[in-house]
Amino acid sequence: PSTLANFDSQISAAIADEVARQEAHIELIASENYASRAVIEAQGTVLTNKYAEGYPGKRYYGGCEHVDVVEQLAISRACDLFGAEYANVQPHSGAQANAAVFMALIKPGDTVLGMSLAHGGHLTHGAAPNFSGKHYHAVQYGLIPETGEIDYAEVERLAREHQPKMIIAGFSAYSRVVDWRRFRTIADEVGAWLMVDMAHVAGLVAAGHYPSPVPYAHVVTTTTHKTLRGPRGGLILSDHGDAALYKKLNGAVFPGQQGGPLMHVIAAKAVAFKEAMSQDFVQYQQRVINNARAMANVFMERGFDVISGGTDDHLFLLSLIKQGVTGKDADAALGRAHITVNKNAVPNDPESPFVTSGLRIGTPAATSRGFDETECAELAGWICDILDVLAERGNTDAVESEVRDKVAALCERHPVYGESREPQVA
Ligand code: PLP
Repeated sequence: PSTLANFDSQISAAIADEVARQEAHIELIASENYASRAVIEAQGTVLTNKYAEGYPGKRYYGGCEHVDVVEQLAISRACDLFGAEYANVQPHSGAQANAAVFMALIKPGDTVLGMSLAHGGHLTHGAAPNFSGKHYHAVQYGLIPETGEIDYAEVERLAREHQPKMIIAGFSAYSRVVDWRRFRTIADEVGAWLMVDMAHVAGLVAAGHYPSPVPYAHVVTTTTHKTLRGPRGGLILSDHGDAALYKKLNGAVFPGQQGGPLMHVIAAKAVAFKEAMSQDFVQYQQRVINNARAMANVFMERGFDVISGGTDDHLFLLSLIKQGVTGKDADAALGRAHITVNKNAVPNDPESPFVTSGLRIGTPAATSRGFDETECAELAGWICDILDVLAERGNTDAVESEVRDKVAALCERHPVYGESREPQVA
């Protein structure tokens, strides 16, 4: 038995239960994925012991010669992977990365223009309860309700009217290709910084399957744990060719927002960036998109509304307004069938953000464990079976039980880690 199991049986048991849950449930939360054994191994090392405030070669602590190697590798791999001149690998999370960019580029009280949470933006893009909405004057854009696509004309109009100091593009729930160039044109017209938060599509961007924002944005932020399939963390990139900007960004991360960097996580980020340079990763990301399309097609064939009529990335939004089903009820019923999704607001949602009328469905995790298009289409069909009974106000016990059995068989066929403890990405 491991030291952990000997010393702390409660935590050890909860971890074992979580391992079993990840193996036995189908993960369709668009922001989740399964990190490789190498990534997890790097993260579980003695690098967690080391204080390394500062940056490689300029630390406030002694003994940093080896963690300097780690951080420098992470930086150069991030730059190579995304074609950027500058990378900061220290943000503890996506939200921290975004907070650092706010701090570097604008002042409290300044106007920012970002995508509203209800239309697919992130909390840190100016939502009222977040620092970005509390300490800054946030103006929000959204989607065209009829098409489900970003309303660029509205972005332009709001930019002219409010003269933001910073415009934020990027999303947590949007299934189409964002026109980064158009955002930059609008930002240039009003003299605003353009920050792109590519957290959701970073893996697709790394693989060349989604347009890179790096040539268009002044600054790009991302998480490293979604489609990119690394450890939980954040990253800031820039190719703006402005050393003064890079210095400001570094200063905003440390000492602006954070103390000591998580060197074990930075090591795991470096490993993930190396993995993302492989041909396997490029093919994996193509399968992620193919699987999302295969699922979206089934929902549309079965009469469900997919926002924007399909997907170009790893996720799509299902509107259940027509069916009169809430996202909350759908999420709970699917959960009982061992399918994990998240409820999500949809354009013109009549329900509150806690209830919603939609679901967000994403394929990065299911694809990592090896589901192919046929299996994803089948899975979408099972979800429709449950949603149909919910819409008829029927009792879902029987259909949930049937689907739970099929889910168990599919999960057994595709272990997440299996014997090798590698995600089954072949
Ligand atoms: N940015 C976007 C677009 C996101 O979707 C998320 C997370 O869902 C974040 C930032 C925040 O990342 P984290 O949870 O690591 O703070």
